[in-house]
Amino acid sequence: MSLTQLLPAVHAFIAKPQRLFIGGAWQDASGGRRFVVENPATASAISEVAEANEADVEAAVAAARAAFEGPWRRETPARRGYLLYRLAELIDAHVEELAQLITLENGKPIGNARGEASSAANIIRYFAGWPTKIEGSTPPVSPASGAPMLNYTLREPVGVCALIVPWNFPLTMCVWKLGPVLATGCTAILKPAEQTPLVAVRLMQLIEQAGFPAGVVNLLTGPGSRIGAPLAAHAEVDKIAFTGSTQVGRQIAQAATGNMKKVSLELGGKSPNIILPDADIVRAAKGAADGIFYNQGQVCTAASRLYVHDSVLDQVLEELRKHATRHVIGPGLDPATTLGPLVSERQLRTVTGYLERGLQDGAELIAGGKRPEHLERGHFVEPTVFFDRTETACVAREEIFGPVLTVMSWSDVDELAARANDSPYGLAAGLWTRDLRSAHRLAAQLKAGSVWINCWNVVDPASPFGGYKQSGWGREMSKNVIDAYTETKSVYVDLA
Ligand code: NAP
Ligand code: MG
Repeated sequence: MSLTQLLPAVHAFIAKPQRLFIGGAWQDASGGRRFVVENPATASAISEVAEANEADVEAAVAAARAAFEGPWRRETPARRGYLLYRLAELIDAHVEELAQLITLENGKPIGNARGEASSAANIIRYFAGWPTKIEGSTPPVSPASGAPMLNYTLREPVGVCALIVPWNFPLTMCVWKLGPVLATGCTAILKPAEQTPLVAVRLMQLIEQAGFPAGVVNLLTGPGSRIGAPLAAHAEVDKIAFTGSTQVGRQIAQAATGNMKKVSLELGGKSPNIILPDADIVRAAKGAADGIFYNQGQVCTAASRLYVHDSVLDQVLEELRKHATRHVIGPGLDPATTLGPLVSERQLRTVTGYLERGLQDGAELIAGGKRPEHLERGHFVEPTVFFDRTETACVAREEIFGPVLTVMSWSDVDELAARANDSPYGLAAGLWTRDLRSAHRLAAQLKAGSVWINCWNVVDPASPFGGYKQSGWGREMSKNVIDAYTETKSVYVDLA
């Protein structure tokens, strides 16, 4: 095993403790505390990061407020776009460095981390095009008096935004939220997950280098309960955007009612994937395997429930067994690795708990099902496939957030959409078929924010992303997210 050599810049970065970024200044946490960031492939420490407290939250919110009311409000849309383009160029120029930090702290295979870093540049570049295209309108109003009346609308930034993001895509999640913040002229306090603060710190350095005014983006690293909760409740925060568990999302929505701040939530899923009998079965099975095993299954849109037509069940199970056992499990820095460790000891315990409970519930093990024997250290687990005849096993119903697929079979197409929709979640759904009529009929029936036909996990900044039901509130990316970060003001002018 020969691991990817860490760049000198990465060695230098992790060698010193990283700090908070508040009002354009790098600073230690006001309480002087730090926490350790761990490498999930080895369960050993990588680096230390400042652990913010409530006083740092106050300072960051004040800095974001001052920047919003001050210099940032006066920047032209063209200048905001220019700064975003510069940031995209800087991300592009540092893809390898960002990717290595992602793999070090998250564990994912380095090739996937490179993909994540490059796509972050593309997402920022997409948002760089927006500032000069956010327009109001001139509605044709009809006053009862018949007086001549002009009405126009203005689109204004919503204000100070708290952005709370998870560890599964530690860079993507930051730029999905920072893109619209910066495009619309809002300001932000960014709170990365405890497990993955390093790439967020490096991104913040690039934001500073791009030339954004002080206080436009502030970074607080530390535990969610200590920092995230006060941000959600803060009277001076105008909007909160959160991605993570449904449980924490619910707490955030409740805390936000104090000042009725705007709330966007991107939560969990248990997404159904359907194979119709006329599908290209080899391709569909490969798509189903990739849809669940990508990123070690730690994906909100993971294709974790697979509905296979009776007539092709044996063939699909055999294909899935092949794909699962073919994975090369190992540290993400090994270029041969296709499946890295889970992010943390806690996540590993959750997933192995589900493996035990799945068997207790009567699900049949098709592949995997345990920790790999050759890897003693690190949070590794085998890619696992269950078959559940009853559709009631916990592994068929609950979000696992690991590389665990539960297969079910179907024969009656009239029951199919209802079975697929029988979940509190509604983030994504997919289907595999060569028949146009079944494809579009089912796409219309599935209650999910994204539907993938003969593909999975295709995401593009030009198209909206988000959840039905308990998978969230609102949409990210596309024109929809610009709406979510702006207020619309209606102005009447009596011309009589
Ligand atoms: P989580 O607790 O929801 O964490 C997500 C983010 O929220 C992190 O930045 C976290 O900070 C922060 N947070 C935690 N408690 C908070 C609070 N009371 N108020 C405000 N912010 C708070 O997710 P997790 O514990 O890392 O993972 C648990 C499960 O959530 C996973 O197994 C998975 O099912 C789901 N999940 C879903 C997604 C998704 O993309 N939809 C992503 C990650 C996890 P700290 O990290 O500092 O605690
Ligand atoms: Mg948590």
